[in-house]
Amino acid sequence: MSPLADRLATVRAGIADAATAAGRSPDELTTIVVTKFHPASLVRELETLGVHDVGENRHQEAQAKAAELAGLDLRWHFVGQLQSKKAKQVRAYASVIHSIDRPALVDVLRSEETSVDCFVQVNLTDDPGRGGVAPSELEALAEHVLETPGLRLLGLMAVAPLDEPARPAFARVRELSERLRRIAPEARALSMGMSHDYADAIAEGATHLRIGTAITGNRPDRG
Ligand SMILES: *Cc1c(COP(=O)(O)O)cnc(C)c1O
Repeated sequence: MSPLADRLATVRAGIADAATAAGRSPDELTTIVVTKFHPASLVRELETLGVHDVGENRHQEAQAKAAELAGLDLRWHFVGQLQSKKAKQVRAYASVIHSIDRPALVDVLRSEETSVDCFVQVNLTDDPGRGGVAPSELEALAEHVLETPGLRLLGLMAVAPLDEPARPAFARVRELSERLRRIAPEARALSMGMSHDYADAIAEGATHLRIGTAITGNRPDRG
């Protein structure tokens, strides 16, 4: 087994264990392998290992990889902060955008022709620089997504804060999700959980895990 296959198998087993411990089926979970900073060749190898959902956080890099690997059976998830002026281009290759965090971005993504799946990202910190909408503005932003053609709201996305335990932070996202479902009953999905906290995320109801280094290995330096 290659080191990559080995790490993938380890994480898949860890996900299955965490799901079982939470009384959930691993089939409810979509694992997105975040391949940022890694070459297209790594994504190609992942695809041969049965990975079909890959995540990127920078538009230029994502666009180049999506173009190079266009023949493969891959769904591209955009998980990074998104500039409004890049949003239309991201929409062209991304199946899912996880980082809807402001009305202006929703407006740019409006389309009468095609539909893209999306998550509203919530900020679990007091630092606006971390991305995501403040919880107090969640409903207003979600309403805006719901009334905009071309966007299908799947649910909420969050990144655990660095300075507190992940589990209670993910529990807050679960509560925010209950609020969201009062206005968007279909928007049940929860994109949360990374290499070091995916078990906590699964325990709090995650449906989409975004896992990078635990599967890919350390990211090459990008200065
Ligand atoms: C890089 C990244 C991940 C994956 O992080 P790891 O710690 O490498 O698993 C998940 N979500 C987002 C938004 C990221 O930018």
